[in-house]
Amino acid sequence: MNIAIIGGGLSGLLCALMLQRRGYSPTIYERLTKLGGVLDSFKRKKILFDIGFHYSGALAKDQYLYNSMNELNLLDKLKLEKYEAAFDTLHIDNETFEVPQSSVKFKEQLQKRFSLESAAIETFFEKCYESSTISSKPEDFVKVDSRSLKDVMKDIKDEKLRKVFLHFTIFYATAFYEDASFDFYAKIFINMLDGTRKIEGGGGAIISALKDSLTRTTIKKRSEVTKIFKDENGINALLCKGEKISYDAIISTAHPKTTLKMFEELDKKQTRYKSHVDDLEESPSFFSIFCLIDAEIKSNLYFYEDEFISVLPSRMHEGKTVATILAGSYYSEYENLSKDAYKKKKEKECQHHLNRVKELYDFGEIEVVDSSTPLTKQHYSNGSEGSIYGVLCSAKQKSLSVLMPRTRVKNLYFAGENIIAPGLIGAFLGAEILMNYFEDNK
Ligand SMILES: Cc1cc2nc3c(=O)[nH]c(=O)nc-3n(C[C@H](O)[C@H](O)[C@H](O)COP(=O)(O)OP(=O)(O)OC[C@H]3O[C@@H](n4cnc5c(N)ncnc54)[C@H](O)[C@@H]3O)c2cc1C
Repeated sequence: MNIAIIGGGLSGLLCALMLQRRGYSPTIYERLTKLGGVLDSFKRKKILFDIGFHYSGALAKDQYLYNSMNELNLLDKLKLEKYEAAFDTLHIDNETFEVPQSSVKFKEQLQKRFSLESAAIETFFEKCYESSTISSKPEDFVKVDSRSLKDVMKDIKDEKLRKVFLHFTIFYATAFYEDASFDFYAKIFINMLDGTRKIEGGGGAIISALKDSLTRTTIKKRSEVTKIFKDENGINALLCKGEKISYDAIISTAHPKTTLKMFEELDKKQTRYKSHVDDLEESPSFFSIFCLIDAEIKSNLYFYEDEFISVLPSRMHEGKTVATILAGSYYSEYENLSKDAYKKKKEKECQHHLNRVKELYDFGEIEVVDSSTPLTKQHYSNGSEGSIYGVLCSAKQKSLSVLMPRTRVKNLYFAGENIIAPGLIGAFLGAEILMNYFEDNK
């Protein structure tokens, strides 16, 4: 079976590796000059900065990602790093909450601080534990849990406590998002508390480890797929740089809205499907500042005041913290600007976020090395509106089951951050679920 994969980001590389291990020799088409998509890291002044990977849960021994990476022999090539103490520090309405590396400790800490809510906290954690197992077995992902976080949090009355719990929606949807899918929330929440790790070398190290493992995959860079062809038997070819190339199956890790635009014609059912996909709501867009901070920052700082802003430390460099400042931003404000107007708007927004961060916390000097706008994310992912995680992981959108690896076009499959969920966990889970559709070919 001849299989093409559209996209050489984390998900495309993972799908290729998993297919290889099943005996296939897929071809990856990547439109950019470099593999890695959003996840990659970059160097300025010989300093390594992280873009789309800072840390992840489920990486403690015997947890989901640890086991999956081990199974793919990736752990031989990667070094996991534990946080020294709390991995996140939350600043919410003038109070500080440290998030320890243990779900039990976090629960006890919250029960002490919000003693009137002790029983509700106990119940909330129980429900999270019940749904926290990450599994790619068909019988587990076919059952759709349509509960929102709001449904499950209904007995938590204290506003500040609700906000502490809602912090964890930032990792897969948006800040304080009560309509988020509870199913994915529980998986993120428990697996982060019990297994958050960084990876030495950041996202770039993950991409290198994957690339090194792809011995039976053809990789075509600077190769944008512009059309997909089908007949009554399903997918049969794609168009790249003017050449029509035949395939038996295509896995697209590009945004589903982008992918479905590549068909010249679709039948009635498929047109309805496309219009459902086009209507899906996106996660918000964001602004990043890559900087050196003259202080040692050990935990990820989240400030939830009037506007959300976070400071994510990556590593130390000559006594300074290499960090990314992340804040909300708007794609529409950048979309149609001239080069000059874009540059001015970007500088102004960068200064605005810097001023805010300095007001919120006494950091010492911050040296800005680079910054990126929602248009930058759009450039790297070719997605929709520069959204941080692609399709919004809301309870409603996930329970509609519009987006599953198997699509309404025969032999076209979806993988990537838009399908099951974003991030390292989402990419692994999506690729593993997809493999249920490809028989062992060895
Ligand atoms: C600022 C930020 C911080 C993040 N932090 C974390 C974190 O700390 N931990 C975590 O787990 N996750 C994090 N994430 C999420 C994570 O980075 C993404 O979910 C993940 O990298 C998505 O990988 P992907 O392969 O699905 O998509 P992408 O990286 O978008 O890859 C898609 C690829 O497809 C290519 N492509 C698109 N269209 C075509 C076409 N027509 N032809 C050929 N190629 C095409 C694109 O060029 C791109 O390379 C973060 C994301 C962002 C934006």
